[in-house]
Amino acid sequence: MKIFSNPQELKIYLKEIDKTVGFVPTMGALHEGHISLVKKAKEQNEVVVVSIFVNPTQFLKGEDFEKYPRKDEADKQICKLSGVDVLFFPQAEDIYTDDEVSLNAPRIRGFVLEGNSRPSHFDGVLTVVMKLLNIVNPTRAYFGKKDAQQLNLISLMVKQLFMSVEIVPVDTVREKDGLALSSRNVYLSSPQRKEALKIVSSLHSAGIMVSKNILNSELITNEMRKILAPLEISYVEILNRDFQKIEILEIGNSVILVEAKVGVTRLLDNIWL
Ligand code: AMP
Repeated sequence: MKIFSNPQELKIYLKEIDKTVGFVPTMGALHEGHISLVKKAKEQNEVVVVSIFVNPTQFLKGEDFEKYPRKDEADKQICKLSGVDVLFFPQAEDIYTDDEVSLNAPRIRGFVLEGNSRPSHFDGVLTVVMKLLNIVNPTRAYFGKKDAQQLNLISLMVKQLFMSVEIVPVDTVREKDGLALSSRNVYLSSPQRKEALKIVSSLHSAGIMVSKNILNSELITNEMRKILAPLEISYVEILNRDFQKIEILEIGNSVILVEAKVGVTRLLDNIWL
């Protein structure tokens, strides 16, 4: 496995090998969720590039940038064992200068849900993803459905800015009890981890209601809120795949999204129905 921190050197290397490239951008502290993206990328491309970069511009003041889990050595081993060909491991100064061109997330779709709790978060996400895509110039880039709004906004960016990369969504990987894997799960104490399962139960019960043909969004989200109590809920929403609110759930074209705080940790999850 080759490791690069310099963007220009990586660009030259990838240009010279001239193969199809699958790209998996991450913030490290790798788990099975990340690895499933790598597996998919390996199936579909000749070369797999993973980036590990805890992007400062997507964290708001007072968020967990400083204490975000960093496991550089373990991550390198995981990448090697997963068959990653190239690891891009830049420092902030390799990516940013002190006077920057940047992208703005769309003023509506970028400032609802996660963007409402974390205004300007998606400006940072889109800016760094654009930079990483320009460095790697991949054939395909892989993003988890767990971060559904991020996936939607990145797909929108690629379409609206006429970029050539194919964005490939990947299903959420879960623990045996259903909790979605997340690098932030390490913040949870063991009672909090149990509390976090309310998020899974709320989505499960939404799934059951839909299977009984109860499709009214308000009925479903009210039931979910009951199950989530007493967690502090940031949002519970039913949207279509264009991320617009819908009063009646459309099977095959809907996403149910939850964000709730467990202690001080914000957890998000969703199901695609
Ligand atoms: P992160 O390191 O949290 O920025 O995540 C990097 C990529 O992995 C993003 O595309 C995430 O959506 C994806 N990801 C994170 N958790 C999971 C999971 N449990 N299952 C599948 N993909 C995930």
